Amino acid sequence: MNSPAPVPTDHASEIGYYQKRKGVFPRKIDGRFRRFKWLMMALCLLVYYATPWLRWDRGPYAPNQAVLVDLAHRRFFMFAIEIWPQEFYFVAGLLIMAGIGLFLVTSAVGRAWCGYACPQTVWTDLYQHVDRFIDGDRNAQIRLQAAPWTPAKIARRLLKWSIYLTIAFWTGGAWILYFADAPTLTHDFWTGQAAAVAYATVFVLTMTTFVLGGFMREQVCIYMCPWPRIQTAMLDEKSLLVTYKDWRGEPRGSVKAHKADDAKLGAEKLGDCIDCLQCVAVCPTGIDIREGPQIGCITCGLCIDACDRAMVQTGRPRGLIDYATLDDAVREKRGEAPTPILRTLLRPRMLVYLGVWSALGLAMLFMLGARTRIDVSVAKDRNPQFVTLSNGSVRNGYTIKLRNMEDRPRRMTLALDGLPGGALYDDEMDAAAATRVLELAVPADATRTVRVYAVADRAHAVPQHFGMVLRALDSEGGGARRDTSFTTSQGDAP
Ligand code: SF4
Ligand code: SF4
Repeated sequence: MNSPAPVPTDHASEIGYYQKRKGVFPRKIDGRFRRFKWLMMALCLLVYYATPWLRWDRGPYAPNQAVLVDLAHRRFFMFAIEIWPQEFYFVAGLLIMAGIGLFLVTSAVGRAWCGYACPQTVWTDLYQHVDRFIDGDRNAQIRLQAAPWTPAKIARRLLKWSIYLTIAFWTGGAWILYFADAPTLTHDFWTGQAAAVAYATVFVLTMTTFVLGGFMREQVCIYMCPWPRIQTAMLDEKSLLVTYKDWRGEPRGSVKAHKADDAKLGAEKLGDCIDCLQCVAVCPTGIDIREGPQIGCITCGLCIDACDRAMVQTGRPRGLIDYATLDDAVREKRGEAPTPILRTLLRPRMLVYLGVWSALGLAMLFMLGARTRIDVSVAKDRNPQFVTLSNGSVRNGYTIKLRNMEDRPRRMTLALDGLPGGALYDDEMDAAAATRVLELAVPADATRTVRVYAVADRAHAVPQHFGMVLRALDSEGGGARRDTSFTTSQGDAP
């Protein structure tokens, strides 16, 4: 009797869905990409920690913090620009510009954002320097990791985690300073007078920085972040990516094998890769770029530095690992020269992204320059909709919100446009003093709410639409208009 055919097992059941993390202990390296990474790290950290402390004089009526998300007053300040809630489209525009900018950079040089400027990368890099400072370079770290928990190891770990926690705490602490006056909040925080939400936010951000930057590191990039999945849609055969030139490096072999090979068969046999594994040792995500493009590669370029050094030490030309496009790979395999970098960068797709990005930026600049700094909104009373006065005239009530978005008090006029035979008065006036143009004062950087009544004499009291026009009475000028309706016993305006 034949035995039953073996049930095919799928790949996942053979290797399992869960793989234990292999520790990553990147070796210290120097080179042009490492220096660029240093520069970007310093810049990002400086901008993040220092920005809340920058001051910007806006006069006595507005905060003097250069960048402030003032949730209490629902304002966003960025140097000379002040955004009110109804101008949120500027923030949306900035976010869209940031998104298109990311598309532009990714299409040009792959995951440069991931490699140099993403907070996860910057803080992980910082923590890896702390590792080197406390435990030593790669080999010392590996040895310590494998060593038993002696008092000396425990002391080192406690010291290192304390530094992790301190960095994480300053990171969380800096974040809340974007939402209130930084010197005041710092004082309140340390004297226990800050709001509970400030302490909670610092705690949450401290712990997330500690865990994500100190322990999870490359796992965030590989398993948690959606960006590596999205970015593949933005890459094409002309995007510059960190590439191992296998046509030049393979077949690989150690220096010893190369020497034997040279002696026996001539230098043609083995490729340029001496299999020194330096590119793997310096990689902050622990991958081997010689296996081809992969999701773990954040295109930081450190393997280029490491390989260039190996090439120089063994008298070979640099660039075995380098930024290259898929197109160039094909060309180089055929022995042709790569496309000039400028032509690669200025291809139609890039120009379209650049065009959209610039057009959006220019449109926002124009709108910023042209926006009026006053606004009005009108809410008509619904109950009662109208009141018939003893002389036969009809009165409608309105709640008006006058917004002065300048950092100084302003006088404004509110005028009727339409409503023949009509006049306006507010709560502070006598009805007999009703006029077609009300003059009102609005405090600096504030919204003033006023109750206003429109009256139409008996002859003109018919349902109709009309406008309320707000104008500023100063040299800056500016105006706004809102249409509303007038209701009588004959009903609402048609
Ligand atoms: S493979 Fe190279 S470029 Fe990619 S993450 Fe590792 S070191 Fe950076
Ligand atoms: S650093 Fe260069 S030579 Fe060394 S293993 Fe990596 S690719 Fe090969």
